[in-house]
Amino acid sequence: MLIDGQWRQAASGETFAVFDPATGQTIAHVPSGDAADVDAAVASARQAFQSAAWRDMMPAQRERLLLKLADLVERHGDELARLETLNNGKLLAFAQGLDVGGSAQWLRYMAGWATKIDGQTFDISMPHPPGTRYSASTRRAPVGVVGAIVPWNFPLLMAVWKIAPALACGCTVVLKPAEETPLTAIRLGELALEAGFPPGVFNVVTGDGVAGAALVAHPGVDKITFTGSTEVGRLIGARCGQDIRRVSLELGGKSPVVVLDDCDPAVAIQGASAAIFFNQGQVCTAGSRLYVSRRHYDHVVEGIARVADAMVLGSGLDPASQMGPLVSARHRDKVVGMIDTSRREGAEIVAGGAEVQRDGYFVRPTVVANSGSRDLEIVREEVFGPVVVAMPFDDLDAVLAAANQSAYGLGASVWSNNLRAVQRLVDGIDAGTVWVNCHNVIDPNMPFGGYKASGVGREHGRSAIESYTELKSVCMAY
Ligand code: NAD
Repeated sequence: MLIDGQWRQAASGETFAVFDPATGQTIAHVPSGDAADVDAAVASARQAFQSAAWRDMMPAQRERLLLKLADLVERHGDELARLETLNNGKLLAFAQGLDVGGSAQWLRYMAGWATKIDGQTFDISMPHPPGTRYSASTRRAPVGVVGAIVPWNFPLLMAVWKIAPALACGCTVVLKPAEETPLTAIRLGELALEAGFPPGVFNVVTGDGVAGAALVAHPGVDKITFTGSTEVGRLIGARCGQDIRRVSLELGGKSPVVVLDDCDPAVAIQGASAAIFFNQGQVCTAGSRLYVSRRHYDHVVEGIARVADAMVLGSGLDPASQMGPLVSARHRDKVVGMIDTSRREGAEIVAGGAEVQRDGYFVRPTVVANSGSRDLEIVREEVFGPVVVAMPFDDLDAVLAAANQSAYGLGASVWSNNLRAVQRLVDGIDAGTVWVNCHNVIDPNMPFGGYKASGVGREHGRSAIESYTELKSVCMAY
């Protein structure tokens, strides 16, 4: 673990094993942090936050450090991508392009914000003694020590989504990576030291939910930023509410993909397959509910089933693989369990439907048909795996109601060139992002986050900068 610029074992001396999900074999042992380690990391982040080296650093210097870190991430890109694939199972090409390439892009984008944080001036109308004038303005101050807790689906990228804006704003950070995938976070810590961030500005505590919960409850933490399950998000939100601690939550989703009747079925098949099967479906915005106009329903469902049946499963390191394993045995069992439940509840399994009997945690890409519009668990609950449930619809009102009939509201996509219909759905769908004729396009400049149980707050762009700063009004009489 990285605490105060030093590499340390856990205070307890305990470690935990980390696996290659493509083989099930142990690839590393990592310190198992708990409350004592979190305490040391938060103390170091607090001290760094108050130190002249960080507090008085010019914004342009923070920008430089972040740019340097981006360069280092890129320079070590191949190694980072291989590490991510080895630990998470994802396809190497995606790890290279998206996880590593995206991390460098986010670091550079947020580096630019360090020198562009501004406030406003205000004219004041309150009665005042004759002759008095006022100058009123706002300024943004870093929120302080940030506790960042991230999941295993995009380990490096999710960490960067949080640390880049936090550091750009002048905060200090304690990062707690997921227990399944801590390796790239550790490497990122090494690269941050090499880039020249002062000790304690960026700390990494490895461990499970015990370390996460200790970070959330620590009185020395000013803000928690969390991506993960809605279940854990609720606990974190409740605890932060109790302590009046700032919190942002990016949680689960059950994102609808809506194919209208003017859409070319070939485009829909390709788009909807990518929306669900990318990253083994382990994406919070995965297009897991597919609503197809009845005119194209059979054709599109058959097409996606053909795509699923043809997919080559294998290690993410093998260039021939088109889908890697799920992240863990526990997660594979959960996904397979949800497919079995949908079968029992009367849904038709059109493709896939089972784990692959071999080493590693592989599940066949699966297409479930729910043409009878039954109330199925798989329509309501997030699977977080390569499983799509398809349903036909007859008119726009019906599909809009169905799309919104969900506890979640993270993403949605609409596939059509019918301007009126598209605009109606864009306006009507309750989701933090609505894509049209695309899905899962996420950019550092575009706000990202959820309605309803999908979270609180927005990441990226100006929204991220606002979420890592406190707004201070200054009113001066003269
Ligand atoms: P999780 O929410 O349990 O874990 C996410 C992170 O939170 C990890 O770092 C974990 O150690 C930490 N954590 C766990 N318990 C905590 C606690 N009480 N206090 C503070 N931190 C805690 O998610 P998971 O078990 O890895 O996955 C479960 C489900 O979550 C998945 O099946 C999927 O549905 C969903 N998920 C969503 C996202 C997303 O991007 N929205 C990402 C991963 C998982």
